[in-house]
Amino acid sequence: MVNVSEKIESIYRDVISRNPGENEFHQAVQEVLESLSQVLVKYPEYADQKIIERICEPERQIIFRVPWTDDKGEIHINRGFRVEFNSALGPYKGGLRFHPSVYLGIIKFLGFEQIFKNALTGLPIGGGKGGSDFDPKGRSDAEIMRFCQSFMTELYRHIGEYTDVPAGDIGVGGREIGYLFGQYKRITNRYESGMLTGKGLAYGGSQVRTEATGYGTVFFVDEMLKAHKDSFEGKNVLVSGSGNVAIYAIEKVHELGGKVIACSDSNGVIVDEKGINLQLVQQLKEIERRRIKDYTQYEKSARFIEKGNIWDVPCHIALPSATQNEISGKDAATLVKNGCIAVGEGANMPTTPKGIKVFQDAKILYGPGKAANAGGVATSALEMQQNASRDSWTFEYTEERLRQIMINIHRDCYETAEEFGEPGNYVMGANVAGFKRVANAMLSMGLI
Ligand code: NDP
Repeated sequence: MVNVSEKIESIYRDVISRNPGENEFHQAVQEVLESLSQVLVKYPEYADQKIIERICEPERQIIFRVPWTDDKGEIHINRGFRVEFNSALGPYKGGLRFHPSVYLGIIKFLGFEQIFKNALTGLPIGGGKGGSDFDPKGRSDAEIMRFCQSFMTELYRHIGEYTDVPAGDIGVGGREIGYLFGQYKRITNRYESGMLTGKGLAYGGSQVRTEATGYGTVFFVDEMLKAHKDSFEGKNVLVSGSGNVAIYAIEKVHELGGKVIACSDSNGVIVDEKGINLQLVQQLKEIERRRIKDYTQYEKSARFIEKGNIWDVPCHIALPSATQNEISGKDAATLVKNGCIAVGEGANMPTTPKGIKVFQDAKILYGPGKAANAGGVATSALEMQQNASRDSWTFEYTEERLRQIMINIHRDCYETAEEFGEPGNYVMGANVAGFKRVANAMLSMGLI
C-alpha cells in the first residue's frame, strides 16, 4: 500500500508542475492537502477514485480579452478570467475581483478555496471565481460602466442561474454588479435574477448580502469565543481594510460589545483608540470613494500611519479583511506577543503558512477564511433562493438565517477537528468537512 503522506506529496508536486508560477494557487492547495492524510486513511475510496487529483484540476478555465475606452477616448485592453472549478454540489459560485494584481494564479487560488467554503455552507453551490486585472481606482462611473459592459459581453455566454453565478469581491461592489446585470439582461433579453448575486434591493437583491461577509466573520469568531466561555465584550479589535468586508465586520463587532481601534487601506492605517467611527468610514469609502487617511480630518482623536502595519497595534482580536498574505510569520508573532487571543479571517487566505503555524503553535483561536468568511457566499445562495421563489425576506429573518449558518459551520469545523484527532484545529476541521461533502457528491456521480 502506498504511504498516504507520500501520495499527498506526489499530488502536490504534480499540481506545481502542471501550474507553474501560480504561487497563490500552490499555497491554497498545500494548505488543504496537509489536512487530508487522516481522511485518506479512513476513506481509501477517495484515493482509489483520485478525488483529490480531480478536485485540483478546474472543470473549465476561461480567459478573454476586455477592450474598453476611457473618458478621453483612449483604448485599453484588460484580461478577463472565469475559472469554473467544481460543480459537484451545484452551479459554480464565487465572486469577481477587479484589481491590477489579478492573474490566473490568484483566480485559481480563490476558486479552489471557494469549493470547500461553499460546501461548508451546506447549500447547493459549486465553486468558481473570476475577475480582471483592471484597476478601478480613480476611474469615473462612466469608465467603470464601459468596462463592466465589455467584460459581460464575453462572460454572459458562460454563466446563468443553473450554470455559474458570479458575485462581488475586491473592486466589485453594488455599482459594478448593477452594470454587469444590466448588460447581461440587455444581451440575453432575459430578466434572469438568479444569474448574479449582490444585486441592488430594487432589482432582486437580498437584504443582508452587503453586510453578510463582515457580519458572518464576526458571528464565527463569536462562536469560537463562546466555545471558550468568552465573548467580544470589552475586547479591542483590529480590522484590516476598509472595504465591504471590513465595514460590516466593524459594525457587528461594535454591536457585540467589542471596540474596533484600527482599520486600513493600501496607503496606511488609521488608529482611533476611542473606537472607529463607522459612519465616517462609510461616508468616506462607500459614498465618496476617498482614502482612509482623510478620516483624521474629521476625527481628531485618530492618527494615520502612512504605510503602517496594522498588526503592530496591540489588540485582543484580529480580523484580517483586506487581501491575501497580509499577515506574515513576523506579524503573527507580534500579534501573539501583544496578547491577541483570536483571529478570524474576513479576507481569503490573509495569513501566510508561517503565520498560521505561529497561531497554531501559540494555541490561539484561529478561524480560517474558508469557514469564517463563508457568510457572504451563503447569503448569496439565500439571494438565489429568494430569486427562484420570486420572494424577498426581511432583514431580520435573513440575518438570523446567516447567523444559524455560521453557527452550523463553526460546529461542523469544531466537531470534524475533534473526530480526526486535532481538537481546536479549525483549519483541519474546515478543510476536511468541506472536502468530504464534495468528495462524496463526486463519488456518487461516477467519473466526472
Ligand atoms: P473591497 O474592494 O470592498 O475592499 C478591499 C479593502 O482591502 C480595501 O480597503 C483595500 O484598500 C484593501 N486592500 C485590497 N488589496 C490590498 C492590498 N494589496 N494591500 C493592502 N490593502 C488592500 O473588497 P472586499 O471587502 O469585498 O474583500 C476583502 C477581502 O475579503 C478579499 O480577500 C476578498 O476575497 C474577501 N471576501 C470578500 C467577500 C465579499 O462578499 N465581498 C466574501 C468572502 C471573502 P485599497 O482601497 O487601498 O485598495
